[in-house]
Amino acid sequence: MAQTIPITGILVVTTPQDVASSVASKAIGMFDKLNVPMLGVVENMSYFECSKCNEKHYIFGKGGAEKISKKHNMPFLGSIPLNSGIMEGSDLGKPVMITHPDSPSAEAFTAAAKNVAAQCSIQYYKMKEEAEAETKWDGLSLEEKKEQLSKHPILYEDLQHTTPEWENKTWAELEQHSQAEIMHHLFGINQYQPTPTTS
Ligand SMILES: [Zn+2]
Repeated sequence: MAQTIPITGILVVTTPQDVASSVASKAIGMFDKLNVPMLGVVENMSYFECSKCNEKHYIFGKGGAEKISKKHNMPFLGSIPLNSGIMEGSDLGKPVMITHPDSPSAEAFTAAAKNVAAQCSIQYYKMKEEAEAETKWDGLSLEEKKEQLSKHPILYEDLQHTTPEWENKTWAELEQHSQAEIMHHLFGINQYQPTPTTS
């Protein structure tokens, strides 16, 4: 699917257990190889909201998804609690956002959705910048490419080692080197560095 449909990014949803974390880690590794951008990690079934004692019970352990997000340097976008309302609602085909809009579960969904939307927006601008850089570079003549590169001796030196005959390469081929570095040097574009969010 990753190869045929344009994707904004992958959202990793996992549960706190170590088993689930390692499955998620493998999936992340796979999408990484396919060069699919990763939006972040959401943890489902993070804890049970107990109506008897009003405490959070961490039934499946704690911190599995956060561990993944740190390991893969991805933003952590939210924790969704276990809640009997979610189960009742699912049986009726009604999401908790509708049946209990003011519940902590609904709030958790809203917070996670906001973070996901923010990451989509970041991803969109990143893709736009990349497309612009690509158009600029591929539109230059060979002479112009050489001239552009000569202004950046460090990058030039670097490309000589990593990408011989760089001047004949397309942007897509240069991408294999280090797109962020090239974009920064040639066009002064600073790629957005997403900061992990925990809200
Ligand atoms: Zn309890």
